[in-house]
Amino acid sequence: MQNKKDRLVRGTALNGRVRAFAVRTTELTAELQRRHDTYPTATAALGRTVTAAAMMGAMLKGKEMINIQVKGGGPIGQIVAEANAEGEVRGYVQNPHVHLPSNSLGKLDVAGAVGTDGFIHVIKDLGLKEPYRGSVPIVSGELGDDFTYYFAVSEQTNSAVGLGVLVDMDNSVKVAGGFIIQLLPGLSDEEITEIEHNLSSTPSVTALLDQGMEPEEMLRRILPDTEVLDEMEIRFQCHCSREKVEQTLLSLGAYELEQMIEEDGQAEVVCHFCNEAYSFNKAELQEILNQAK
Ligand SMILES: [Zn+2]
Repeated sequence: MQNKKDRLVRGTALNGRVRAFAVRTTELTAELQRRHDTYPTATAALGRTVTAAAMMGAMLKGKEMINIQVKGGGPIGQIVAEANAEGEVRGYVQNPHVHLPSNSLGKLDVAGAVGTDGFIHVIKDLGLKEPYRGSVPIVSGELGDDFTYYFAVSEQTNSAVGLGVLVDMDNSVKVAGGFIIQLLPGLSDEEITEIEHNLSSTPSVTALLDQGMEPEEMLRRILPDTEVLDEMEIRFQCHCSREKVEQTLLSLGAYELEQMIEEDGQAEVVCHFCNEAYSFNKAELQEILNQAK
């Protein structure tokens, strides 16, 4: 693995008529691979999803948050990713121990693991009374094209989304990252044709990252006149805590807690997002029960 910090750049091109994001998520994906012990195909599916989440998080501001659920009906089950505007990302996959034979292109069979019969759900907490919710059917299962479809249908933005994870021989993450190019109104047909040409002649995200390219260099490969507006660090961050788990136990109510104390004499709660385990012995559960009463 290359020991470079994950970073995201946001830029524009063609006089502001193209909005662009590119990110390296190698460290993030590696951290998730270790925490959840994902097998290569599951690593790629989870890595691609959190990479999209990181860039969609960068489209938010302040305390806004995004939650993405991919439910394609395939063997890995549900993929969940969350990100915020500060570059904090977390995620998990329901069945991490999924690895499939390579597809016809010799690549990790992400579509086979994700499945193609289901939906991508996007929930944005924008600090309003009701969160924004968008859902689109899964069209390819490879995820890049699925997020492209999401932007077209749910956000009425013509986009190109590239997502990639390269897994090494020892199952560790070699590189991961992606880009989102968004075409805004006002582009001429010639400009659109040129962007499409550049997209189709650009090697895969993983090939570019594996050559050591930085996110802005990836963007300039597709949009030569890219102007970088800002950049931010991307990192794994889970917001779970012992206090929050206590609150969850408390919300079960006195009856449930009494049953727990009587039957098990202890409790262990594992955070889905980071796999951290929180243990409570009998005395600690008794204390929570006293609060519940
Ligand atoms: Zn956690």
